[in-house]
Amino acid sequence: MPWVDKSKCVGCGICVEKCPVNAISMKERKAEIDMEQCIRCGKCHDVCPKEAIRHDSEKIPLEVEENLEKTKKMMENFESKEEKKALLERMIKHYNKKKKVAEKTIEGINKIIEVKK
Ligand code: SF4
Ligand code: SF4
Repeated sequence: MPWVDKSKCVGCGICVEKCPVNAISMKERKAEIDMEQCIRCGKCHDVCPKEAIRHDSEKIPLEVEENLEKTKKMMENFESKEEKKALLERMIKHYNKKKKVAEKTIEGINKIIEVKK
């Protein structure tokens, strides 16, 4: 999924014009992608002159950092070591569930690819 690195976006609006489904708009002179509308065609990556539209995989370290920060913040709500440990175990279950959903989805997509061959 594409995402906009706002520190690089200069607000030229080229991606807004080229998006085939009008999924990009300008907010405070920076491009913003509506992921509900985006059909993952990749055109915005190709046309941006500032390489401000980045690939999903480049967001992995940022998302990991966000998840860890969120978890640390939640820990502040618990006093005892046991409660904190129980929270961390719940968070592991939460992210394991997300991992399984992703794995099953990929499995399903691979089956679609097989059928189309
Ligand atoms: S084309 Fe690139 S620099 Fe121009 S508005 Fe879109 S993201 Fe920003
Ligand atoms: S990937 Fe395609 S549909 Fe999605 S925002 Fe970029 S140009 Fe629009």
